[in-house]
Amino acid sequence: MGDIVTFKRPKPGEKHKGKTLCKSGFHKWEVVKANPFDVKSGKLVSRFRCSRCGATRVESR
Ligand SMILES: [Zn+2]
Repeated sequence: MGDIVTFKRPKPGEKHKGKTLCKSGFHKWEVVKANPFDVKSGKLVSRFRCSRCGATRVESR
């Protein structure tokens, strides 16, 4: 006893982790409320933006 095993835990970059998730298709979608209307199609749509990689997605209702 007395031996303390110390784990050297290099912090895995959260950002890198996020990018990996994004690459796998798991984006962190956030609703963009600035422009709820898609003018082009004239339909009410929901805009999403990934807070990690900045990808955008539009979902029509
Ligand atoms: Zn993303």
